[in-house]
Amino acid sequence: MSMSIEDSLSYDDVLLLPGYADFLPGQADVRSRLVGDIRLNIPVVSSAMDTVTEEEMAIALALEGGVGVIHRNLAPREQADQVAAVKRFLNWIIDTPVTVQKDQTLHDVDDLMKRYRVSGLLVLDGGGRLCGIITSRDMKFCTDYARRVEEVMTPDPIVEDGEPEMGKALKKFHEHKVEKLPVIDKDGRIKGLITVKDIEKHQHFPTAALDVNGRLLVGAAISPNDLESRLPLLLESKVDFVVFDTAHGDSRGVLEALKTIKKRYSVPVIGGNVATREGTRRLIEAGADAVKVGVGPGSICTTRIIAGVGVPQLSAVLWCAEEAAKKDIPLIADGGIKYSGDIVKAIAAGAEAVMIGNLFAGLKESPGREIIYEGRIFKQYRGMGSIAAIRQGGADRYQMSSDDDPVPEGVEGRVPYKGDLKPFIYQMVTGLKKGMGYCGCRTIKELRNYHKFIKITPAGLRESHAHDVSITQEPPNYSR
Ligand code: 5GP
Repeated sequence: MSMSIEDSLSYDDVLLLPGYADFLPGQADVRSRLVGDIRLNIPVVSSAMDTVTEEEMAIALALEGGVGVIHRNLAPREQADQVAAVKRFLNWIIDTPVTVQKDQTLHDVDDLMKRYRVSGLLVLDGGGRLCGIITSRDMKFCTDYARRVEEVMTPDPIVEDGEPEMGKALKKFHEHKVEKLPVIDKDGRIKGLITVKDIEKHQHFPTAALDVNGRLLVGAAISPNDLESRLPLLLESKVDFVVFDTAHGDSRGVLEALKTIKKRYSVPVIGGNVATREGTRRLIEAGADAVKVGVGPGSICTTRIIAGVGVPQLSAVLWCAEEAAKKDIPLIADGGIKYSGDIVKAIAAGAEAVMIGNLFAGLKESPGREIIYEGRIFKQYRGMGSIAAIRQGGADRYQMSSDDDPVPEGVEGRVPYKGDLKPFIYQMVTGLKKGMGYCGCRTIKELRNYHKFIKITPAGLRESHAHDVSITQEPPNYSR
């Protein structure tokens, strides 16, 4: 009996051939399609991991044009609240502003402000019409929180009762020195709220990744067990898309759950993870709007060693992209990105976007705790299949029950502290643009169809890295 074994490659096994370019790298267009109609301004997604993506990371990344996926090692309500916080961070018009009745107390106001993390509430009269605004400034000098809202609020606030326009709103803010502008209909009922902070934020972040209402995009991780409990709360919080956060997406549980979601709801769903053509096809047949690829490439992952299963990531992306292209379904390359050059390779292999854990875990915005070790600052980074993460709720990602003795598929560790996301993402995205420049690909679509890989040897990889030198000044985009 003869048996053929297919070759497979990872990012380090290849390089892209340079090609003719008639533009400068800075002119490359890095916008991409993530899932369904959702577009990103940079093709970068942060991993659904408890040391990578909570609301702070999701906000920071979406402001730069990418998107975060809030992890699910959180109680369903907490995860949904984090999604809601991202959705509320930036608005043009807040369509459902938080309100309070005029006869409620300041205790109620305080609770609502803390729960929804807002600094002002619109006040309603008994007939459901706007009659005032109460802000944290009004509350500052009040010691008696048993008082009624109407005694402390600013009555008859300045409002927008016509068609809202940004220029007109800005004029009103300046003229009346107010920071909040309720939008009302002719009967005085609230249609929305415009805040000066939101307009300023829009001006500061012109490439933010936004939904049709001008709010930041955000995704959330789910598992097949979440359809009744977690998913409805996430939808209520207006999550833009959900991601099956499972290590083995080519499994009955995931495929059935995917079909159920697609039957019941209209939310875009990213299915995964898979690493084969067949797995990709089954996810697409079950209704996945995008496919996430990666079995074992993650820096904290030990699946390939513990289970002996996986596919080197470049081949996985190439194979799955070939299948996904038949149905024009986007593909996300998840895990194993060590440098910006790997992003270029992942996209040239057919991905629309990359998902990143390790490179983001050291940023200020990640939720991992800071660790000082031998005088240097690090941040905690752990696999969702590590013992600690499994104990905190991640067992079903690995098809285990929380009562089982944990058999980890990931490790716990630390990564160097890297500071703010903004300058770091600039390095990553400029690296991507440089790659596009070298290949002569002006758009992500052109790069996705480039495919001009050459295989290199260990000597070629050695030559690719800085070599025969002691680095005395570490650059912001390279370390070994
Ligand atoms: P990184 O960017 O660190 O190379 O990879 C991050 C990706 O690894 C995540 O997006 C996720 O898909 C995957 N991952 C996270 N935790 C674990 C784990 O404990 N085990 C495995 N097998 N994969 C993990």
